[in-house]
Amino acid sequence: SIDFKWIRDNKDAMAANVINRKTAADVEKVVQLYEQSCHLRGEVDKLRAERNAVANAMKGKVEASKREELIEQGKQLKERLAGLEEQLTKISELLYFEGQRIPNTTHPSVPIGPEENAVVRKQVGVKREFTFPVKDHMELGLALDLFDFEAAAEVSGNKFYYLKNEAVLLELALINWSVAQLTRKGFVPLSTPDIVRSNVVEKCGFQPRGQNTQIYSIEGTDLCLAGTAEIPVGGLYMDQIVSNSVLPLKLVAFSHCFRTEAGAAGSATRGLYRVHQFSKVEMFIICCPEHSEAFHEELISIEEELFDSLGLHFKILDMATEDLGAPAHRKFDIEAWMPGLDRYGEISSASNCTDYQSRRLNIRYRPVSEALAVKKVKGSLPPLQFVHTLNATACAVPRMIISILENYQQEDGSIIIPEVLQPYMGGLGFIRAR
Ligand code: AMP
Repeated sequence: SIDFKWIRDNKDAMAANVINRKTAADVEKVVQLYEQSCHLRGEVDKLRAERNAVANAMKGKVEASKREELIEQGKQLKERLAGLEEQLTKISELLYFEGQRIPNTTHPSVPIGPEENAVVRKQVGVKREFTFPVKDHMELGLALDLFDFEAAAEVSGNKFYYLKNEAVLLELALINWSVAQLTRKGFVPLSTPDIVRSNVVEKCGFQPRGQNTQIYSIEGTDLCLAGTAEIPVGGLYMDQIVSNSVLPLKLVAFSHCFRTEAGAAGSATRGLYRVHQFSKVEMFIICCPEHSEAFHEELISIEEELFDSLGLHFKILDMATEDLGAPAHRKFDIEAWMPGLDRYGEISSASNCTDYQSRRLNIRYRPVSEALAVKKVKGSLPPLQFVHTLNATACAVPRMIISILENYQQEDGSIIIPEVLQPYMGGLGFIRAR
């Protein structure tokens, strides 16, 4: 449940936040609708009490004329109540619709403004020096028969691809390697459904419908293709009370991601960079509120470790307000150097969504130890609280393939396989022309 009372009490800060994040949300309207709904609910409660009083009065011995009067009163109350309840339902639906558009609060350190205002927190590694003219991943991959975009365009459409030969082994190696690294760190592995209900998509803070949606929906159903594992993983805990003793829950999910990429025409779309379907390994943490900032740091350091051990050069960015989307309170992106594309490209994103998703998905915990909870009588237990959720990319396959092909290319067009992946590719050290 969205905390509308909190939004009303912090109206000005929320309105400034909406402006900073350039979100299409109307705080004023939400507050008005909330006040209307509170007023209506009060009226409804009053009328219900009156109706009950009338019903009770009729239970005893009542004179015939008085009974008639009570019946008439009861009838009128019932009609007024039905009208008010209908109004309340309409206002509540509108409030829910408008409220969904309000973004999460923003961490005070987040830079304000557009993408360019992101602050570089750290750089890792250096750009590799080449002694020969570099090729981009398309040129390299096509020469090595690693993918087929033309056939995919016929079969599925633009921005789809077939991976072939060693590229398939590389995809599977990247997935297996990253899942193995994370299970070793105590993350529980999951493989998630690719199709999800639109209300779960919405509760995670994504827009399942509308002109510029990134989400594919399945015509004639209430179903969507998952854009990221974050949606089915969050959904797994929907409407649950998670025991305090199991927090933090650390999960690593393998999934396919589907994106419409509406509005992404033009630059930076060559080859595998921006496609409609890709495999991804995603980390997800559910924790109590006081620990989420520390877990956000942990997630970014895991990403750093993974990409560093692949030998990539990258920078870690504290993303600016306009780039946060609706659910993130703060977001760190990693951009890796892609020499063939001759620029840095985003390879991962780590977000602390605080209680934005848990309120909508209704995931709560009781902030006492299990032992105490058992001993205490129910009435004296501290109230349930919403958990915090965090998500972070461990390995988004296509941009990893770009980074590896472009950074590990040799003069003859062959590719060295990063050492950490070799055991996951049957010991293969190179991709060479056949
Ligand atoms: P996001 O869930 O949007 O934060 O994306 C997570 C990661 O997935 C990004 O950092 C990219 O590496 C990758 N990614 C996102 N969109 C695409 C796409 N359309 N094609 C290929 N990779 C993508």
